[in-house]
Amino acid sequence: MGALSGKHAMVTGAGSGIGRAVARTFADARAAVTVVDIDAGAAEQVCRRIVDAGGTATAVVADVSEPGGCDRAVAAAVERHGGIDVLCNAAGIIRRGSVTEISEDDWTRVMAVNVDSVFLLGRRVVPLMEAAGGGSIVSIASGWGLKGGDRAAVYCASKAAVVNLTRAMAIDHGPRGIRVNCVCPGDTDTPMLRQEAAQLGAETTAFLAEAAERPLARIGRPEEIAAAVLFLAADTGSFVTGVALPVDGGGIA
Ligand code: NAP
Repeated sequence: MGALSGKHAMVTGAGSGIGRAVARTFADARAAVTVVDIDAGAAEQVCRRIVDAGGTATAVVADVSEPGGCDRAVAAAVERHGGIDVLCNAAGIIRRGSVTEISEDDWTRVMAVNVDSVFLLGRRVVPLMEAAGGGSIVSIASGWGLKGGDRAAVYCASKAAVVNLTRAMAIDHGPRGIRVNCVCPGDTDTPMLRQEAAQLGAETTAFLAEAAERPLARIGRPEEIAAAVLFLAADTGSFVTGVALPVDGGGIA
């Protein structure tokens, strides 16, 4: 028996990086997984890999910053798997810059993808979880939801919003058996981290070396973030709700 046997999980941003690792980890834990991503090829590849390994998965192409994309993703999950027991919000983007450096469009887009998606999916998934007697939502926030960082104004604002939305949802929906938590990763080896270097005009090797400056003296692996997500999503986290868990090699410490 896996930790998520008999459960259905939806993972957004599951085509790459942390979301992909979460989708695979959930599938290894025996969940049926709805793999949601804006990138069709990436979603289908992750789905195929899970199915080839003996798991159950469905790929859905959707922009989760849009109500219509969230409607489509949830409808597909319900049609294929009958409901959603676990939701992991991993879709996210970053635009590095101070408030004077980023554009107003960048502000709007980052807030839409990183924050609106958690709201839009939450309002669709919570009623399904209530009807099923409970569920678990885990969002991927960031260490920069707990502290500030340089030239990352909108990203810091968006991740702090995810942290406090997590707490508010935990309070509202706990009485109906729905736990809501978030994981706050430190720098993790994904395409996003390399995009940050490019956005800042930094040399990648030097940027990654600086990112490794933390007590454990390295950046994280997506699978290490996924392990913490699984702990919170499954019954291992049955008395945990409303937390923002740093998984960051001691970066926040
Ligand atoms: P990633 O490798 O870029 O993966 C993010 C995935 O989300 C990509 O497949 C991306 O597609 C997809 N996506 C973007 N916008 C979307 C939308 N509107 N609807 C559906 N899918 C969308 O990034 P990652 O590093 O794994 O990041 C995952 C989460 O962890 C994010 O929320 C990020 O903020 C957070 N995080 C990452 C780090 C880190 O160091 N990597 C640290 C702290 C927190 P495209 O590639 O086509 O855009």
